[in-house]
Order: sequence, then structure tokens, then C-alpha cells
Amino acid sequence: MTITNKIGLYLHIPFCLRKCRYCDFLSFACADENILSEYTEALIREIKIKSTEWPYKIADSIYIGGGTPSLLSEKNIARIMGSLYDNFNVDRNSEITIECNPATASEEKLRAFRETGINRISIGIQSWDNSVLRLMGRAHDKNDAFTAVRSAKKAGFKNINLDLMFGIPGQTMKMWRDSIRQCIFLRPQHISLYSLQLEEGTQFYKMVYEDHILSEPSELVDRKMYHDALIMLEDAGYNQYEISNAALPGFESKHNLKYWSYEEYMGLGLGASSFIGGVRYKNCSNMIDYLNHIKEGKSPVNPEDIEKYTKREEMGIYTFTALRKKEGLDLGEFEDIFGREFFKVYDPTVINTYFGYLDYEDNRLKLTDKGRDISNRIMAEFV
Ligand code: SF4
Repeated sequence: MTITNKIGLYLHIPFCLRKCRYCDFLSFACADENILSEYTEALIREIKIKSTEWPYKIADSIYIGGGTPSLLSEKNIARIMGSLYDNFNVDRNSEITIECNPATASEEKLRAFRETGINRISIGIQSWDNSVLRLMGRAHDKNDAFTAVRSAKKAGFKNINLDLMFGIPGQTMKMWRDSIRQCIFLRPQHISLYSLQLEEGTQFYKMVYEDHILSEPSELVDRKMYHDALIMLEDAGYNQYEISNAALPGFESKHNLKYWSYEEYMGLGLGASSFIGGVRYKNCSNMIDYLNHIKEGKSPVNPEDIEKYTKREEMGIYTFTALRKKEGLDLGEFEDIFGREFFKVYDPTVINTYFGYLDYEDNRLKLTDKGRDISNRIMAEFV
């Protein structure tokens, strides 16, 4: 673990205009201003509680995620940012991101967000095809997406991420390639590509596996979508630095790199996770419990949600996340952190077993292009 007394802060805003059909994130459809303001108040109190409880005073990345943080009013976002500045020493070079849904992103609002010091915006585009967006149950259409990107630029954002999804029921190769083309045309600094996972309990899962009214694309189509996108992005100057993320040089997400580089982070808000001093903490996920903890002036982490994993388990987590990065895992760093040689912990024959899928060079272990297609299988060798 890189100990720097600096920390990344994640703030969870669990409200959305509506629930998308594929979504299993901790989020609820709610746009009631009173509820959003009550939650903002609790979050501000939690910032105070946790900044006192944990001795990390310098924040070098902040990520306001959700849910749909852009559903909060300008005033509430300004209050949250003000509280962060009051309770942490926010490094002047910090990357400060807010996630935004195109349906809740007027230029005026984005300008107000920018004025609070937020310098990166992540827009959930998902697809540029209206029929796919409708099927996904998204609250926006293609025009809203264009307007949001244009508004973000006009509001002064010079670091913009666009999120896209592939492997969506009903999505053709052409639709997907058009979506990538459209993103490239808009030239954001960062593009994230996620393969849709059908999670139990979601409407999509029911439509595919129970009602059989939708079918998911085959594994072959899913992989072709992924690889085609990577080629198109590479040709356009984007560097794929992580399995699902590509950026123009210098615009790799500092905050997300913390998760993949075994660095510490503090989670604030409903259900948010923290990794501090080798211990993993999870805030309670029940809104009433969360609000009650905060009202009593207590950290919203229940004792059963504090976990100290064994060294071996932490080695697995380190390896699993490091392999997500294009640069892979540095065996020297592994030894510095855990005091053990990598190949004394793990069987070196894994390299032969996954020949062509796993590269071992310059004391680094990396997934090859082919290896990324079976990343879960390879990573499972180490956990
Ligand atoms: S906007 Fe995001 S968090 Fe909200 S329901 Fe849709 S996928 Fe889930």
C-alpha cells in the first residue's frame, strides 16, 4: 500500500430520476428536493465525523458518484464541496469528478458545479441510439446527450469522461460502432466501456431469463464489440490503460487508478466503502440506519461491516486489481508491500498455463489482449 497521508474521497449520491432496467447499484428513483437536502445534510455531517475519526487530512482526488449526483441542486453540491474544503486539505492538483446523467445537466448547473472546483465530469451516455436508450430505461435520449457534452464544454470542463455500454440486448454491431464513432467525434478526454452484466433482480434479468422477451448478445459478439472499440479508440489516439478505460495521454483517471493501485480511499454516503490502514469498512446501506447513525453523531459503519482480511487475501486483491491495468503488476512493488516474493506465494507455472494470455516481462505480469477476454478466469488463480 502506498502510504502518503493523502487519500481519495468517494461520495455516494444514491438518487436517480428513475431506475434503469439493468441497474443493480445502490440507487433509488427520487427527485424530492426535501429528501435530497436531508441527505446532503447527513453527508456533510459524515464528512465532519470521518475527517475527525481518520487522520487523513490531504485529499488528492474526490469522486462524487451514484446514483445521479447531478440530480442534486447547485446549492447542495456547493455545500458538499464547501464541507470538503473545510474538513480536508484538498490538494490544489486534485482531480475532482462528478457523475452526471444527461437528463439533469443544464449548462447553468454544470457551470455552477465547475465554480465549486469540480474539474472533471463523467457523463453516462451509454449509447447514442435512442431505441437502445429506451430499452435500457434511461432517462435521457441522444439529443440530451449531445447537449450535455456541449454544456460541459461550455461550462469550462476540460476533462470529460463519457461512459458507454455494450453487449446490450437489441444492440447491433453497427449501433455500437456508431456510438464509439460519435464519442470519438466529440473528443472527450476519457472514455469508459462497460460490458453489460445481467444482474439478478434487475428488470433486464427478468426480461431475458424469466420472460424470454429479450436475448443477450452472444459471448462472441460481446468480445467483438469490445475489441472493435479498442481498435477504433487506439486509432483515434486513446490509450487503453485499464480493462474498461481509455484516455488521451495524461487524462487517465487519478481517482480510479487508486482503486487499481492498492491505495487508500475513504467512502462517504450510503453504502460507501473505505480502505484505510489495511482495513475495509462499509457504510450501512439502509437509508434509515444511515440517517440515524449520523443524527447520533456516529460513523455509519456497523461493526460487522469492518473487515480485516488476511495477508493472503489482500495479496489476492492487490493482484486482481493490478492486473486490470495495462501496465499490469509490478512484482517488486508486491514484495515491498507484502514482504514476500510473488512467485513464492503463487505457483510460477501459471505463466505457462496461460501462455499467450499472461505476459511476464521486466518483472511485470500483464494480461495480453487475448488475456483480457478471460480476465476473470486468470484473476481467479490469485484469489
Ligand atoms: S442512472 Fe445509473 S445509478 Fe441511476 S438507475 Fe440508471 S444506471 Fe442506475
